[in-house]
Amino acid sequence: MSQIARIVIPASGRLVEVPRGLFIHNEFVPSVDSKELIDVINPATEEIICSVFAGSQKDIDVAVAAARKAFNTTWGKNVTGFERSRLLNKLADLMERDQQVLAEVESLNNGKPVTIARDSDIGDSIQCLRYYAGWADKIVGQTIEVDNKTKMAFTKHEPVGVCGQIIPWNYPINMWAWKVAPALACGCTIVMKPSEITPLTALMLSQLVVEAGFPPGVVNTVPSFGAVGGAALASHMGVDKVAFTGSTLTGRKIMEAAARSNLKKVSLELGGKSPHLIFESANLDQAANWACLGILYNTGQDCTAGSRLYVQDTIYDKFVALLVEKAAQLVIGDGFDEKSGGGPVVSKAQYDKIWSYIESGKVQGAKLVLGGQKRPGKGYFVDPTIFTEITHDMKIVQDEIFGPVLSVGRFKTEEEAITLANDTSYGLGAGLHSNDANQCMRVSSALEAGTVWVNQYNMLSNNVPFGGKKQSGIGRELGSYALNEYTDVKAVHWNF
Ligand code: NAD
Repeated sequence: MSQIARIVIPASGRLVEVPRGLFIHNEFVPSVDSKELIDVINPATEEIICSVFAGSQKDIDVAVAAARKAFNTTWGKNVTGFERSRLLNKLADLMERDQQVLAEVESLNNGKPVTIARDSDIGDSIQCLRYYAGWADKIVGQTIEVDNKTKMAFTKHEPVGVCGQIIPWNYPINMWAWKVAPALACGCTIVMKPSEITPLTALMLSQLVVEAGFPPGVVNTVPSFGAVGGAALASHMGVDKVAFTGSTLTGRKIMEAAARSNLKKVSLELGGKSPHLIFESANLDQAANWACLGILYNTGQDCTAGSRLYVQDTIYDKFVALLVEKAAQLVIGDGFDEKSGGGPVVSKAQYDKIWSYIESGKVQGAKLVLGGQKRPGKGYFVDPTIFTEITHDMKIVQDEIFGPVLSVGRFKTEEEAITLANDTSYGLGAGLHSNDANQCMRVSSALEAGTVWVNQYNMLSNNVPFGGKKQSGIGRELGSYALNEYTDVKAVHWNF
């Protein structure tokens, strides 16, 4: 079977060649022992785009061995920060060169609009690579005086080693960049397992890794099913750290596997059910725009989706009317249609899960004020859906839906708003809108979340840390904080 899949880009009819093998030691290769394939689906048409090789447990062994060899010879402590920086910048340049074609394949596979994939997802990813290229030669330790006369110590931040990185399907390129860039900047080597639902762009980026000039084995990419390749990485004795983004359920399994094997380091970016609070002094028009973006961006397939909106009693009716009016304007359609502000959801499984939640909202007595009706025809399209008259115990209020489904509740006092917001096992994101600066300070401090947005929502920046509290995760990505996830501190005591 050929190592290359030829796929046709809709609209332009352009033919694009995408590698379909496992990427190990800078080469695309078939599995050592498996004939299994992963069918890659276009969620807008439900058609198979192509199929790629599915890596087995043995393939993970081969990839880990390649990553270990590179760590001990050409990478790790054997390469300067200046060189790591140069290569990361080169990779960013290549990603920029290929921005359009990467966006088209991302859209075809994930469903999101091409323009959003290109300008937001990939634009931010290029910046992420450059941001960590800037850090690669600035990872320094401390000099510590111990007794002022004969003893001192210094610290070094050494690369952790071989990192298993497991990413989801909602931002395939972005999540790739968030993981790969800081790991390479710190001198780690990588075995990346993209989601089996969206493996194509990780394979295309692997081609750029070779072109940029990274030595063989520094980055390896093994598309595989989660319970096979992901589980193998989490339990592998040769992996020093596993970095994971995905559901809380899988995060728990990864932590268990890490604990049972070699107690590898673990960082987890997990799910959320983020609260978004609208106080009566807020600029309602702007707050409604942010509330729409909070739940509808990426068709709600966002770990920080502001899926629980709480509105102060005094402005509730006015605000809900505004919100429904704005949300109804979003066009969900094919990612290649320029009119689409959002695409289909990524898969049949996701589509069915979202509809089961919409049905549960109806059955449990919430009031549907927008959407909630299936479209005829092909494609996993779900229109913006808003429920009001919710109660705290409803499934739509408790569970992460990961779709464009918003639950709107009301509160009387600031205390009540905070109590409702924090009454969840998750703690990823939270937002509030108010024109009262003291209230913004009080509430942002009381909210139990890794990120709090004030008078905006869902805005991230490569130089600001991101991660979860409670059951939304462990560790931080982005900013200088991510460097801690990929380095071990060594203390050297000196007697002179
Ligand atoms: P998922 O947990 O099903 O899968 C994520 C990744 O884990 C995939 O690559 C999958 O193959 C792999 N995997 C599955 N089972 C595994 C196992 N037993 N061992 C090891 N790996 C395994 O999640 P998903 O459905 O792909 O993504 C959606 C979830 O991701 C949502 O819950 C969302 O909130 C979360 N997410 C979180 C963030 C964040 O930064 N906090 C960002 C994006 C998505």
